[in-house]
Amino acid sequence: MKQPVEKNRKAGGEENGSGKNGAGGPGLKLTKKDFATDQDVRWCPGCGDYAILSTTQKLLADLGVRREDTVFVSGIGCSSRFPYYMNTYGFHSIHGRAPAIATGLKVARPELDVWVITGDGDGLSIGGNHLMHALRRNVDLNIILFNNKIYGLTKGQYSPTSEPGTRAPSTPHGSVDHPANPLSIALGAGATFVARAIDVDAKHLGEVFARAHAHKGTSFVEVLQNCPVFNDDAWAPIVDREHKSVRQLRLAHGQPLRFGKDGELGIRLGAGLAPEVVAVGDGDGEVPPSALLHHDERAPTHYAHLLAELAHPAFPVPLGVLRAEDRPSYEALVGEQVEGAVSARGEDATLHNLLHSGMTWEVGDDGLPR
Ligand code: SF4
Repeated sequence: MKQPVEKNRKAGGEENGSGKNGAGGPGLKLTKKDFATDQDVRWCPGCGDYAILSTTQKLLADLGVRREDTVFVSGIGCSSRFPYYMNTYGFHSIHGRAPAIATGLKVARPELDVWVITGDGDGLSIGGNHLMHALRRNVDLNIILFNNKIYGLTKGQYSPTSEPGTRAPSTPHGSVDHPANPLSIALGAGATFVARAIDVDAKHLGEVFARAHAHKGTSFVEVLQNCPVFNDDAWAPIVDREHKSVRQLRLAHGQPLRFGKDGELGIRLGAGLAPEVVAVGDGDGEVPPSALLHHDERAPTHYAHLLAELAHPAFPVPLGVLRAEDRPSYEALVGEQVEGAVSARGEDATLHNLLHSGMTWEVGDDGLPR
């Protein structure tokens, strides 16, 4: 477990403000630099991870959180080097197990602000089981999944999100797997906050991370991240400047699903509850904005599933918060239960009594129960 390092600060800094999750309190106002470490960042030149790191460091400074209240837990993979570069507490743990470790930490220390950094291989393959259970339990974690559709650290094998036909060292004739959709998996597991953003769109990424951080419960964010070495431009059809207005759907709660340079296209429900792209306007063959689907982060889950399944090239790719639902967090329920059990037992509520209660027995010298 690494710890935050106090850096030399110039005199005359501002007092820190208050923040979420016990953040704030007296002290100097931290800057983005204060959240960076002295470690050389060992990602390949041009890797999308740099942009995500930079956005996260800036966000934490803007939010006014305290480094000593913040923990980044990661598994294994390129993205999982993240804790080395955050001047907070951090834990570069074992493959796929970051959600389990973070769950234990959050239950034991609910006042901490706990982030999980994972990738498409770490989170959806090796750690798919652990991810699913953190999501359904609604532990108050911020889970960021870097999706570059490839295993980068181990040199380019196809991953659970790779496109069919991906040629890689492990699939020399092309992958025949159907790819996993991270958002659909999160929704299917009962996630209460599900969102998507792009690595290099710092402003939008920061806004989505801020929403994730404010959410009480598990926040799951898929970041479309470029791996220029092993899967360059995997997201280019969606990210590229020329086409992004018609290939990205920016979600805004309460607003109609519109896209295109001037919002000239929209999405409505067609026959058989199938979404369809329509032209927006009052001309022939066009539909008014009122006929479009209106985004509702709190709608029943099947609406968010519908959004999660919208994919290029038939549809624009939804970006932003697909779903945000209030549900008690796991560690809060555990805390209440423990408190209730302790108060019911009164003075008897000691560890000794707990360990000597219930189905316990003594073992004799012969190794058998007495
Ligand atoms: Fe980034 Fe890909 Fe290099 Fe890993 S292999 S550091 S994901 S560019």
